[in-house]
Amino acid sequence: LVPERATRVRDLIADVPNFPSPGVLFKDITPLLADAEGLADVVEAFTRLALADGVDVVAGMEARGFLLGAPVAHALGLGFLPLRKAGKLPPPTHSVSYDLEYGSAAIELRAGTLTPGARVLIIDDVLATGGTAAAAAELVEQCGGVVSGLAFLIELEALHGRDRLQGHNVDTLLRVD
Ligand code: AMP
Repeated sequence: LVPERATRVRDLIADVPNFPSPGVLFKDITPLLADAEGLADVVEAFTRLALADGVDVVAGMEARGFLLGAPVAHALGLGFLPLRKAGKLPPPTHSVSYDLEYGSAAIELRAGTLTPGARVLIIDDVLATGGTAAAAAELVEQCGGVVSGLAFLIELEALHGRDRLQGHNVDTLLRVD
């Protein structure tokens, strides 16, 4: 993002302390989604990254990765793959489990929707610990896809999520401590 647009986008992301649990500073992109120029800036920036990486299909993580990833796919004239939380998609699915702070979670991709060998750009709103993104990359690879890159609107640098994505092309539009 050019500086003027980065400032506009940054100002459209609300910091909500202690949500959804105590100690978490939640980055709320709802005001950004509601703003025509802000949304266009972000979709355009992701689209430029995709063109640089060479992409066949866009994937996004439930739920905010859908909101950002689907318009990027459309802007590129490509399809979109939803990476869903466990139990939302009808079978058959491919699934990858990953650890959370307490317990574990899984993400799933509908079998047959990813063409083997396709180059996949994975999009989400926030890169925090990187656990979700690492699972998404593993899921794409398990289904025979090639991860062309992972792109995030916001990187929470203090959590070092990037370290969990070594070997991948990682791009973030805004970085915060
Ligand atoms: P992680 O697996 O720790 O990198 O967490 C990434 C996922 O959790 C993404 O799908 C984000 O939407 C969400 N997330 C994590 N931390 C935050 C935060 N501080 N604000 C908003 N969303 C977050």
